[in-house]
Amino acid sequence: MGQPLRCRVHPADKPLRLCYRSGMTSDPNCLFCRIIRGEIPSKKIYEDEHVFAFDDINAQAPTHVLVIPKRHFPGLKEAERSDAEIIGRCHLAAAMIARQRKIENGYRTVVNVGPGAGQSVFHLHVHLLGGRQLSWPPG
Ligand code: 5GP
Ligand code: ZN
Repeated sequence: MGQPLRCRVHPADKPLRLCYRSGMTSDPNCLFCRIIRGEIPSKKIYEDEHVFAFDDINAQAPTHVLVIPKRHFPGLKEAERSDAEIIGRCHLAAAMIARQRKIENGYRTVVNVGPGAGQSVFHLHVHLLGGRQLSWPPG
């Protein structure tokens, strides 16, 4: 990891850190970036080149896994066309974990967008919830 950088396009944004090996950005102050870097412990469920998955600290179902892109970006609202692939990868990783856990009879992937929907961590994440009956509509 190099020194904190300011985005050239959005210099007022919080500094990012660029990994010169992967070209990926990481926010030094972001909770989930810190989990990816191992600075904050987590129960890792899955990892590949692009995504990282770990147990939610406050599980709302027998399976409650968070799947996140390794590259920092704040959420779906901020996503661009070039983020389509990583958003898909997060969902496919969630589907793979659900298959491994044999909860395919019924599970839910959720992306909370903005404080009004309960988003509290501003690093895009897909919740994978399953292992119990899930009601509809969600609260
Ligand atoms: P949001 O509310 O932004 O959609 O989801 C954030 C999730 O992150 C919450 O479900 C919350 O329980 C989880 N979370 C917050 N802090 C931590 C942490 O330090 N470790 C883990 N594993 N999960 C966390
Ligand atoms: Zn982050």
